Amino acid sequence: MELRNPLSFGQERIWFLERLMPGLPIHNISISYEITGPLDPVALDAAFRHVVARHSPLRTSFHEADGRPYCVVHEDAPAVLDVVDVNEADLLDRVRAVTDGIFDLSTWPLLRVELCRTGEDIWVLTVVVHHIVADGWSLSVLFDDLCAAYNALRADTAWRPPMLPLTYERHVVQERQAARNGSWDRDIAYWRGLLRDAPPLFSMPGSRPRPTAPTQVAHQTDVLLEQADALAVHAFAKQRRASSAMVLAAAWAVALHRQSGATDIVLGMPVSGRDRAELNGLIGLFMNPVPLRVRVAPGMSFDDLVDHVRDQMLGALAHRRPPFAALVAELDVERSLAYLPIFQVLFNHATVSPQPFAASPELGCRRLPAPPGLTQADIGLVVVDATDADGALRLAVECSGDIYDDQTPKLLLGHLVTVLRHALNNSRAPLDLFRTVTASERDQLTAWCAPPETPVPAAASALELVVGQIARTPDAPAVTGALGSLTYAELGRAAAALAERLRRHGAGRGTVVAVNLDRSVEALTAMLAAWHLGAAYLPVDPGYPEQRLRFILDDAGAGLIVSRGGGPVDTVSASGTPVVFVDDPDETAADDPAALSVPPGAGPADLAYLIYTSGSTGTPKGVEIPHRAVVNFLAAMARTPGVVATDVVLALTSPSFDISVLELIVPLTVGARTVVASTTDARDPQRLINLIRRNQVTVVQATPVAWGQLVDFAPQDLRLRLALSGGEALNRSLANRLCALADEVWNMYGPTETTVWSLAGRVRPDQEGAPVPIGRPIDNTSAWVLDRAGEVLPAGVVGELHIGGAGLALGYRGRPELTGQRFVPGSTATGGARLYRTGDLVRLRGDGEFEFHGRTDTQIKIRGHRVEPDEVAALLRRHPQVRDAVVVARWDDDQEPRLVAYVVPRDAEAAPPG
Ligand code: AMP
Ligand code: MG
Repeated sequence: MELRNPLSFGQERIWFLERLMPGLPIHNISISYEITGPLDPVALDAAFRHVVARHSPLRTSFHEADGRPYCVVHEDAPAVLDVVDVNEADLLDRVRAVTDGIFDLSTWPLLRVELCRTGEDIWVLTVVVHHIVADGWSLSVLFDDLCAAYNALRADTAWRPPMLPLTYERHVVQERQAARNGSWDRDIAYWRGLLRDAPPLFSMPGSRPRPTAPTQVAHQTDVLLEQADALAVHAFAKQRRASSAMVLAAAWAVALHRQSGATDIVLGMPVSGRDRAELNGLIGLFMNPVPLRVRVAPGMSFDDLVDHVRDQMLGALAHRRPPFAALVAELDVERSLAYLPIFQVLFNHATVSPQPFAASPELGCRRLPAPPGLTQADIGLVVVDATDADGALRLAVECSGDIYDDQTPKLLLGHLVTVLRHALNNSRAPLDLFRTVTASERDQLTAWCAPPETPVPAAASALELVVGQIARTPDAPAVTGALGSLTYAELGRAAAALAERLRRHGAGRGTVVAVNLDRSVEALTAMLAAWHLGAAYLPVDPGYPEQRLRFILDDAGAGLIVSRGGGPVDTVSASGTPVVFVDDPDETAADDPAALSVPPGAGPADLAYLIYTSGSTGTPKGVEIPHRAVVNFLAAMARTPGVVATDVVLALTSPSFDISVLELIVPLTVGARTVVASTTDARDPQRLINLIRRNQVTVVQATPVAWGQLVDFAPQDLRLRLALSGGEALNRSLANRLCALADEVWNMYGPTETTVWSLAGRVRPDQEGAPVPIGRPIDNTSAWVLDRAGEVLPAGVVGELHIGGAGLALGYRGRPELTGQRFVPGSTATGGARLYRTGDLVRLRGDGEFEFHGRTDTQIKIRGHRVEPDEVAALLRRHPQVRDAVVVARWDDDQEPRLVAYVVPRDAEAAPPG
């Protein structure tokens, strides 16, 4: 009867993982060599049989009874070598098929060897063994024995190696005994203490949600460290009384810290479980990962960190005896099927790889690079002491493709090399200072963050672009509203006529004309009329509360209000500012107004519009946008994403949001038509769909909230050319739905202070849930990611977005101090020009696209409205019965946040507690 043997702890873990994720070659260990010279396949085959006969794990199969695994060791040593002739062209596929072949654990041997003959005396030898019976070290044992046997056979002598001091089966018995008799207790206590309150999961920005069926495919990148750098690592280690591995692990922790911001990082380090010399000649699974808990404290220097890592490593090695699987069972660690317990990031200082036939005078042997494989860890660094150059170091970073993009390992490896170069020379400086970029990183960043300038139309005013288009296509339809359509010429005449009326009420160059109209053809006409006079327009929504309206009119110094009459309580008329009613039948315009044109003396620095947004000190603030910013924006949008004469653009946004400029003005600069949705249309998704259909709208811009409602109603066959989403974060599921609705989908990003949109990115569908980037800077715009000290951050790292370039506002109206806080001088690294601090957290991906990561402050968007909760709190505090107040956004059951105020009443002190 066959003898049923127990498995080691490590084997049990692998057996379990194989059950969990069957059909993935995740536990295949493979290696390939190109061998040149007169190789003897017959002798090689016999040598392999000797190796299999000598090492019982290579004759072991694995089975299950009552839900528990057991293994059986077999006596025969079957042939394992396949010899095939393969074309050079097919070689890679052939090797891949061997290395990725799935083993059935119940069939032995769990070793596969293929020898491909690719030409006269040219061979490729591939060895694949299952991890349940071997580890990296085992490969060296295997090749040592193989070559000794091969040489003996070639010399016609018998191969008589010394007996192995013990078998793997015996080792398993000893391990089980140790587990039973408590000899690991002190080690387990050490680990329990070390890992108390350790973060269960390491994550980095930009990761995708974990898929339910992981592929475990790894993205990988590697670099051979320059000799000087490698030698510096060794020298630094020596001087610090540390090993090179300790220095590299410390640098790896800094790289991870740099990219993720994490300060408490648990690394898994595979170590050899061969803690006695008698285990060294055995093939089998002895490798055991141990945790290192690396904490990067503020102010710490690299010297400090290396000392800290040295303590960690020495502690880990001293307590490495309990197998990882036993440790996980003993410690009450958070378990998940989705990721590894205790650590998800590896630091693997690999031993030198085996060098078969190194001593052979007739055979040349070269290891072939491994194709990218699979990974169980989320992230890993593998350091190989390269053998081809003295002291050289090869660093390879791999990341799970299930949660990270293929740029992530490149970013991490980049950080690692940067950190090594800087830290070794500045090892006493605080680690925070390594957050600077290297010269080569800087060139790349400049290309992404401040792309070369594009010519801007030489227009003194945004109106010039519209006037030019009126002259080109006077009879083309320009705008469609509730009452019908106007051609370009008609729109121009209407604007000029209204301007004449405004002039009669005193408006002229430099006046602020408040436009108190909902979205309508009249509102558009009023904006153009203001520009015709050299005035700026100030949109104020008819829905504003009276107090807000009065404040804004007063703060802006509005000289005139354009409104619609007939409201029951006309707060506008009560404000004291002269009012022009667009629908006033008594007033007639001049019969023959001057044609729409740019007023003499107008210049690009003149104010085009003034828009008020929420202010944290309790009052809204007016953003002053000059014509040059609008001109640049119009020209940029007409190019990218691109609006063309055949487009029909839906105007859906209230004029009090700056994004209405894209809907109302951009079409008028290219000869396209705008369809203005009425307030009733805009509130009802079904009516909107009808409007879109009736007018054959091709371009729609909306906030994600509005898009969410629209896509729910969109019929299957509705197809847009261009869908623009902006103003708030676009989530992946909505992005994918939009991609099904429009030929092109763009995510648009921008604060009012930098003129509508400052970044834009084409959105592609992604079924794996990757975050939707906000794209790249638009024309003549720069976008920098800076840390708190204003230093440029490298790609991958989250920091505050600063925007510069043509779109910048002049400042906040009448608020020089606030203007100075938000519009700051640039540093030499950013080119010196003025930058707007957005308060938005972003990171640059490895491909130059930006990704949004929330706010540095509490500002939020509620149904598209930018709200500073502190503005509300400041107002509440002014109430006589309120002593103090706090306002926060809460996401209860809804996806949309709500504002919640907590107040302390004035007489609360007097009230009894309870
Ligand atoms: P506003 O001044 O009303 O345009 O608001 C600007 C703010 O809206 C930005 O600072 C961001 O916080 C947010 N925002 C605008 N567009 C986007 C976008 N595409 N993704 C994420 N946040 C956005
Ligand atoms: Mg905006």
